[in-house]
Amino acid sequence: MPRETRRWRIGGQVQGVGFRPFVYREASARGLAGYVQNRSGEVLIEAGGPAGALDDLLDRLLHHAPPLARPRLIETDTIAPTPDRDFVIRPSAADDAPRIHLPPDYFTCDDCLAELADPGARRHRYPFINCTQCGPRYTLIRALPYDRPNTAMADFALCPACRVEYENPADRRFHAQPLACPDCGPTLTYREAGGDITGNEAALAACVQALRAGKVVAAKGIGGYHLLCDACNATAVARLRARKHRPHKPLAVLFPWAGEDGLAVLHRHAAPDAAEAAALTGPERPIVLVTLTPGHGLAPDIAPGLAEVGAMLPYSPLHHLLAADHGGPLVATSANRSGEPVLTDAEAVEQRLATVADAFLHHDRPILRPADDSVCRVIAGRPRRLRLGRGLAPLALDLPRPVACPTLAVGGHMKNTIALAWEDRLVVSPHIGELDSPRALAVFEQVIDDLCALYHVNPEQLVHDAHPDYASTRWARARAAARGLPTLAVHHHHAHAALLAAEHPQVARWLVFTWDGTGLGEDGHIQGGEALLGRPGAWQRVASLRPFRLPGGDRAGREPWRAAAALAWECGREWEPPEVDAALACAAWQRGLNTPTSTAVGRLFDACASLAGVLQQASHEAQGPMAWEALAAGHARTPATSLPLAIDAAGLLRIDWEPLVDLVQDNRLPLAQRSARMHDTLAETLVATARRLRTEHGAFAVGLSGGVFLNRRLSEGALARLHDEGFTAFLPEVVPYNDAGLCMGQVMEAAGREG
Ligand SMILES: [Zn+2]
Ligand SMILES: [Zn+2]
Ligand SMILES: [Zn+2]
Repeated sequence: MPRETRRWRIGGQVQGVGFRPFVYREASARGLAGYVQNRSGEVLIEAGGPAGALDDLLDRLLHHAPPLARPRLIETDTIAPTPDRDFVIRPSAADDAPRIHLPPDYFTCDDCLAELADPGARRHRYPFINCTQCGPRYTLIRALPYDRPNTAMADFALCPACRVEYENPADRRFHAQPLACPDCGPTLTYREAGGDITGNEAALAACVQALRAGKVVAAKGIGGYHLLCDACNATAVARLRARKHRPHKPLAVLFPWAGEDGLAVLHRHAAPDAAEAAALTGPERPIVLVTLTPGHGLAPDIAPGLAEVGAMLPYSPLHHLLAADHGGPLVATSANRSGEPVLTDAEAVEQRLATVADAFLHHDRPILRPADDSVCRVIAGRPRRLRLGRGLAPLALDLPRPVACPTLAVGGHMKNTIALAWEDRLVVSPHIGELDSPRALAVFEQVIDDLCALYHVNPEQLVHDAHPDYASTRWARARAAARGLPTLAVHHHHAHAALLAAEHPQVARWLVFTWDGTGLGEDGHIQGGEALLGRPGAWQRVASLRPFRLPGGDRAGREPWRAAAALAWECGREWEPPEVDAALACAAWQRGLNTPTSTAVGRLFDACASLAGVLQQASHEAQGPMAWEALAAGHARTPATSLPLAIDAAGLLRIDWEPLVDLVQDNRLPLAQRSARMHDTLAETLVATARRLRTEHGAFAVGLSGGVFLNRRLSEGALARLHDEGFTAFLPEVVPYNDAGLCMGQVMEAAGREG
């Protein structure tokens, strides 16, 4: 067998994930000589030996790497024979401009889970067990390179037993930076009015006892605190809702890991399909919306008026222990004030949640930055992300082509996230939240400065939404002025549309339906029911909803009856909302006072919920559209036809919603049927619009973007019908396509305008 020496440069996600020890083990096992070394964010390998063994090694490295590694071969060379006799891990090479990868927080791996359950293991039932294949990363990294002194574990000195593991390349804890054990690592403290209970087992036992007694506990996790209570205890759930002033918004539920596939307990309450089960047990361990079974056994108001519940499985050892010891589902909702970033600090939690939680489960491993749980919903067979958080963020992507200068995009106002783009790279932050409070703005600024520092990026351009009153817009303008940087305003729906180009760079021409609840359009009106033709940097508005005037403006977002009134009054119907005194609003509407014009499909859903008598006042965002969609759950497809389409004076194709006003009020039909018909009519209308525009403008790929398309029935119906009609059609998968993805669309739009 001929002997050779080869050099490989391997990029992708290969640092902080146990890749070097893996290379070391595989190369040593084959009797090869050489070394592996971290360099510039990549891994450099030189290996000498029989050609067959080298081929075999490369195949192993690329296709059988540890689960968290995502290696990519960048370069391969045959070089002069190596003088080395053994295979070694060389110390990392220092470099000025490393290609940095900041890993997200990882779920507990199978090996650690087995140890957690093994009474003979040193870390039996230790709530902070981890290894190179699992444990927190993003939330505990203070600075890069990712070494222990640069993490929240810096103050925990390794005990001799842990040090041996840390220094042994053959051990799966070799250079596991958050490495800890009961002797040297973090500890739990349970705090209730009566005092503190410190010590892992004692604190866990006290916490579980409190949960069984129906109490609400604020428990510290990986990226923040959760509020926990027994999800099957109606009184406990009602108590949590009353104290949190959150009467209806669905609550996420944590199920114990049970059975071969982890889903045994979950199956008693909900019916995930194969794609949902895969998402639930996948590496991100997100909250996944799954259909509740009839007689599901959870507290009745866990998700009032909805057919689905946000379910998740444990992702940290602490959550495994809590859920298993409790023995049943637990409500696990982010501990924060509504819409604000999740809380991470013990003192702040005790102060802000003093009237919400009965007790607190703290630990002494600091959380350096918040990461809420990720959320997804399976639509058309694929998980679609509603929220980027723990396990996913910061989300690093390759851009189709490099940006002209380092760019910071600050996103929208609701569900805010921010993005940083430089060279051919893009990083999207975890969910920050609504930018209404000083605390949210402080976290927003912290995340921006933090990501810039960690990735060594100095933005030379700031991109923001065109809405002048978004807090993110105001911040971007102030920061740019202070630093003498240029800004770029991107229209809300242009950003929604441009998002698709990041996932499908091969598409030269798009028709994107940008349907959401609200966004400032180029014409100065509220939009959200548009079809945009073109590509990033060059969009033409070609279709839109027939406009209507919203009584009370912004208040319509939380009061569905206002959208109903807008539609009814617009087409000259007598209509008085039930439960509401609308005389003043009606008088103001007739005189055109505070009645901004809107074309938003989100409001159309609100209007339907109200006109059909389902909901007049919402207590949380999108409650009307969610309640309306839930009515049609499981209903067979209806023989729907398109709404009327007509070209207006400005040459815009207008969708006339008027027939829906009668349809949803038709008392001869059951509510479920009215809702199903409305959904199917909208899907059919979307397809008819695309068909008409294709005749007029020629070929394009169809995209769906904007929060409205998180409606499963609408999106699945539209996609199926588009495919029937021979269209290529896409719904984004990588980044959320509600307002949480605006920052990425802003980057794509800015890049598109560069030419
Ligand atoms: Zn592990
Ligand atoms: Zn130790
Ligand atoms: Zn939007």
